[in-house]
Amino acid sequence: MGCGTSKVLPEPPKDVQLDLVKKVEPFSGITSDVYKHFITEMGSVGPFKGSSPASGQHAQPCPGAPPTGHTEPTAEPPRKGRVAKYRAKFDPRVTAKYDIKALIGRGSFSRVVRVEHRATRQPYAIKMIETKYREGREVCESELRVLRRVRHANIIQLVEVFETQERVYMVMELATGGELFDRIIAKGSFTERDATRVLQMVLDGVRYLHALGITHRDLKPENLLYYHPGTDSKIIITDFGLASARKKGDDCLMKTTCGTPEYIAPEVLVRKPYTNSVDMWALGVIAYILLSGTMPFEDDNRTRLYRQILRGKYSYSGEALYPSSFFLLLLVPHPPLCQVLGGGFYDTGLETGTPGWCPGPACPTWPKTSLTGC
Ligand code: ADP
Ligand code: MG
Repeated sequence: MGCGTSKVLPEPPKDVQLDLVKKVEPFSGITSDVYKHFITEMGSVGPFKGSSPASGQHAQPCPGAPPTGHTEPTAEPPRKGRVAKYRAKFDPRVTAKYDIKALIGRGSFSRVVRVEHRATRQPYAIKMIETKYREGREVCESELRVLRRVRHANIIQLVEVFETQERVYMVMELATGGELFDRIIAKGSFTERDATRVLQMVLDGVRYLHALGITHRDLKPENLLYYHPGTDSKIIITDFGLASARKKGDDCLMKTTCGTPEYIAPEVLVRKPYTNSVDMWALGVIAYILLSGTMPFEDDNRTRLYRQILRGKYSYSGEALYPSSFFLLLLVPHPPLCQVLGGGFYDTGLETGTPGWCPGPACPTWPKTSLTGC
């Protein structure tokens, strides 16, 4: 998961205050630090922190993170000891079937390890989630609710699940090409052609999810994995811990304040009921990062960061873009990308009834568009 990014989880636990959990308060417009209610900073840092891409420099690898491939823990104990440590956390039913090889990712409540099926020698990933605390349970339930329903080339495939009282083990297909995050770090930025390829694959997955009534709510380069190390690898969407799956009869609106700060849509910050277009916002942010190698919204201070997002205040300092970008624009009709692409925006007409390209700055009331129109 690269350098890791602090997620904003739905709510703090009732019984225990995990220092990993943050609560987002609605933006009230007052000048004091309205986000002081965050319980604490996570140990991890946000994307590109320390490399200050906003300053126009190419992003540098995070300390200890390999330029490509999966994140392995950086400090002691040595590799063998680490594997043994994680192996000990596995239920005997799991280790009887799978040989634990290496730790490849860690998150707030989870550890992801590369394993090998003992009988077939087939490699897989196992995501182990601690379900002792309420957050872990909720994240796990969300993830399983989605993964049990989906089958798509650009979405991680669940193979089987083992459950114990305190942990859930999700056996998934293994993506061996590392995170999109790491490739951005390694490359600095993508060409328009490569960025389009990546976004098209992510959009295929997102279109499928939205058609099923599923909103990912945590799209970011750390959660987009390359299936294999080659340059022609497909992209796979992973990490459905914050996903929302609409139940039959539900309206399209969601209310839970969650996501990763740099990628959160303004409507979530102001605690308005929101739709799956929050995924399109995140895709716009990702598109910006891919094309420029910098973050559209970045500030160590959360209040200032959220203020930037709410104002849609950012500038594009990458290379001039070509008309082909209009194609990208049609695919991702949400403000950040639209503004990246020359200050205009594409209004799909869901609200106005007249779809079309609008040059100039994006409308103050941005079109709430999504792939499914929901
Ligand atoms: P979290 O909710 O803790 O962020 P993720 O599902 O995003 O959990 O997994 C953390 C990291 O583990 C990912 O960013 C990725 O690097 C790695 N990872 C997760 N699933 C897989 C997989 N199926 N194949 C390869 N690596 C994976
Ligand atoms: Mg993740």
